Formats: sequence, structure tokens, C-alpha cells
Amino acid sequence: MTAMPSSFLVKKPPAEEDAAALAQFFSSFALGERECLTRIVDLLPCYVVLISSDHRILFRNKAFDQYFGSPEDKPCYTVLRGQDVPCRFCAPLGSINQHSFSVIEWVHPKSNHSFRVYSYPFGAVDGNPCVLKTGFNVTSKLRVQQALDLSEQSYRIITDNLSIGIALLDTNLRIKTGNIRMDQWFAEGFKLNFSICGVLGCPHFANSQGASSFLDAANCESCPIYSSRRDGNSHEKEFTVIFQDGKEHVIRLVTCPVSLGKSFGSGRAVRALIVMLEDVTIRLRMSQQLQRARKLEAMSALAGGIAHEINQPLSALHLYASGLQMLLEEQGDLSSATTLERLTLIMNEAEKIRSIINNMRSLVLQESNVSIGPVALASAVDMALGVMRQQIDTRGIHLIRDIPAQLPCVRSNAVQLQQVVVNLLANAIHALDGCVQEKGEDFLPRILLKASLDDTGRKIRLEVADSGSGLPKGSERIFDPFFTTKEKHQGMGLGLSISHAMISLWGGEISAVSHHPVLGGALFFVDLHVEADS
Ligand code: ADP
Repeated sequence: MTAMPSSFLVKKPPAEEDAAALAQFFSSFALGERECLTRIVDLLPCYVVLISSDHRILFRNKAFDQYFGSPEDKPCYTVLRGQDVPCRFCAPLGSINQHSFSVIEWVHPKSNHSFRVYSYPFGAVDGNPCVLKTGFNVTSKLRVQQALDLSEQSYRIITDNLSIGIALLDTNLRIKTGNIRMDQWFAEGFKLNFSICGVLGCPHFANSQGASSFLDAANCESCPIYSSRRDGNSHEKEFTVIFQDGKEHVIRLVTCPVSLGKSFGSGRAVRALIVMLEDVTIRLRMSQQLQRARKLEAMSALAGGIAHEINQPLSALHLYASGLQMLLEEQGDLSSATTLERLTLIMNEAEKIRSIINNMRSLVLQESNVSIGPVALASAVDMALGVMRQQIDTRGIHLIRDIPAQLPCVRSNAVQLQQVVVNLLANAIHALDGCVQEKGEDFLPRILLKASLDDTGRKIRLEVADSGSGLPKGSERIFDPFFTTKEKHQGMGLGLSISHAMISLWGGEISAVSHHPVLGGALFFVDLHVEADS
């Protein structure tokens, strides 16, 4: 390796634009220095070429030869472009004439390599002004850039065609980017660096744009956007907002924190937030319409059921009353025994009508003043068992009672909860009766009553199951009023619908599956909220 001349090491090249000074800089090197300089230029990761104004290549480095071959005595346009005549807009001449430094990108037609070329006017060699060019191969960089552009374009197309609005926020809740939907919804309000709080019209935001009932949040602490920024979790909420069309829309807002790495001490640091807005106005309207339609359907079923149930005792009552009238007309007078007998029949039918109406009133419970509060499930179950004990014992039903003593109270009404358990037990006993008749003496009638606290500690599940033959066909209707498979006078089909109405009133749920995995008969679940005993 040639030792580097010390004069070279201390020489500082002049500024690129200063062509004359640069030429002088190079010619000022002694021969050994030039060799050294050539070696250095050969090692550069770019091609270096010196071109004169008459298109001759005066100097080139190794990289140039590697890219374009050894172009002995050929003009630059032949070597670089494969042409017989100079280019229409000759870049070297351009740089020389304008005495200016320039940068262009071009693609070598033969190899398809892309180069970024820096041109420096170089002063005169042999009386011809020259230009020094350095060309960096940027093919792979360009390809990566193109791939990136394409992928960004694809993501843009996807997000812009979503029916939801998406925006990326910085930790100051300023908009960094968003999709077309946000522009359409909020138009002028949705701009880079605007605060999302203003865009959504939050009343707690000083420069709020609209009069939206944003989140009806009492303060920013309960806002899902603030909550996500604070705890790094996803949050969501529905609220109304006014779009640029001036109309109120119901929006479901979902926030997704973007976390990178670990923050000091605890969880991951939130670096940005993605907010997604879904316009649920139409869906909500449709579900309200559906609910209304369901209510109407339930009401007409109820009205039909009442008419059907009452019709029978009413006809009987009419029959007995007109019979009594006929007797009176025929005989003028009646013995008190006959009168009493006829009146008792009439009163029985009137009593039936009264009990039907009473049951109906229980079904429309929501309007009554039932006190709801903490109730000890175990004691409600035991009271119900007390009521049903005789029926259970006389049938030899094996009762499995699995209710932990330390269960917390549930949100309910004590009398109603007892009524629900009585209903479920009565149904189970009835189902077992059917099986005894079907399966004979070997059949083992069993009822299970089990309660457990769920993993969250916030709900208690009561399970009531039997060893009967499971739910009947059409079991999806068992909670509908007047659905019954029992014989006439054995059931009115109101027990489960009344239980359902009561449980819903306490905020709980009742559901059923056809077969208990062990006992084989129907299995009912009653899920109730835990309520602290005050
Ligand atoms: P009812 O007992 O008057 O028929 P319910 O509303 O209590 O009214 O029950 C509705 C129907 O649900 C019953 O007729 C029966 O078909 C079905 N059912 C309820 N409990 C059980 C059970 N444990 N096993 C099988 N079927 C049941």
C-alpha cells in the first residue's frame, strides 16, 4: 500500500460549488499524491467520472468501469446512454454552462440500475471546461422505497374504504393522521395537529367545535380517550356527536393505545393512541324498531293468551249464570242449596279469572314497586325447599343441595327469588313425574340445586337440574308467556315467563340447556349480581 503523502492529509478541499478552486485543488497534488488520490477514488462506493464539454471521458474510477465497462475513447452519451448523438438536454453541459452543482436521478437503460448523480463544475482541462460526476447506486433503496410506497398505498386504500373513522393521536391528543371517513364526517374540523377533543365537540375542551353531547362525561377522567392514555388499555363508549352535515349521530368510540417498549417501573408506555369511530345511528334505530316490534309481538301474544285463558272460565261462568237465570224463570223460586251450589260454581270460575289476572300482573312487574336489595340466596332456596318438601319427599326424589354457606348476598327480592325457585322445582318435579311413568320403577328421580360464585366475584350462578328427559321440542319458547307442554289445567305456561320478568328486573339472567351433563334432564341457570349486605 502506498504511503499517503503528508501534504494530502493536511489539504482541505474547497466547497463543492467553487469549481476553479476545486480544479486547482486537484492539480496541486504531486504525482505520488495523484496516485494516492486515484486509489482513494477507486475505493469509493460510487462511480466518479470527469467529462469534458465535448463529451470526452477524461477520468473514471473502478466503479465506473464495473457499471459501464471500459469505454476507451467513447463519448459519454455512448457509454452511459448507448446513443450515437449527444443527449438533447446534456447534463454535463448544463452543469458547465450554469457553473452550478446539480443532482439528478437516472436509470441506466442496459442494467436497469438507478443512480443518484451529483455534478460539480470542475474548471478546464486541456482548454475544455469539465464536469466531475459522482454516481451512487440507489437501485435497492428505490426498490425498498417503492415497496414501502405501495404498502402504504394499500393500507391507505383499506383504511379509506372502511366504514369506520380512524385517527392516530399523539399523547397530547393531537391528530397525526386519519382516514377519509374522518374528513367526510368532520370536514374542516379534522385537521393535522387539531385536538380530537375539539373535533368531537367535547364540552370540557376550550375551543370545542360543536355542541355534541360528547360522552356525557362529567369530567375528562371518565373519557375513554383519557382513560386509555392513563392506563394503557382499550376503552369504548357510545355518545352523540354532530357531523359536518349538522345532524346528530350516535357514535361508538373505541380507543387503542399504541405502546412501545417498557416504561420505567410498571406497564408499557403509551406513545400514541388510535381512535376508531363507528356510526351506529342506523343500527341503533333498527334495534329500537326491532325491540318495539318484539314488544308489540309480546303484547299481542299476551293479549291473545289472556283472551284464550279467560274465555274458558268466562264461558263457564256465563253458562252457570244463565242456567241459574233459567231455573229462576222456570221455577220462580229456588232452594237455598241449589242457589248456593250454582253460586259456588260461578264464584269458582270468577276466582279462576282473578288468578289469571293476578298472574298477568306479576308478568308486568316492571311497573310495580318491588323492593330490590341484598338477599341471601341460601335462605331463599331453603324457604322454597320448605314449600316443596312434601312433594319431594312423597315421590322419593333424591335432592342434591350444593350451596356454599359463605356465599355473598345477591341483588334480588326475597319473596320473588323464593317464587322463582319454587317454579323451577315444581317444573323439575313435574318432569320427573313424567319419567317415572315412562321409565318405570328403576328410574332414579334426582334434583340438583347448586350455587357458585364466578371468577370475577361479581356474579352468583344458581343451577337447577333434574334427571328427567330434558327440555321439550320448541324449547326456545319456554320463556314465552303461555308456552306449555303440560296437560290442560296442569300448567298455564306462565311460570318461566314470570320468573324471567322478575329476574330481569333484578338485573339478572335466566337461561336453560336441554340436558344436564350428568343428570340428563333440563338444566336451568339463574345468574345474579352480587350485592353487598348493607
Ligand atoms: P308451565 O309449567 O305452566 O307449563 P312454565 O313457564 O313454568 O309453564 O314452563 C313452560 C314449559 O317449559 C313447560 O310446559 C315445559 O314444557 C318446559 N319445562 C320447564 N321446566 C322443565 C323441566 N325441568 N324439564 C322439562 N321441561 C321443562
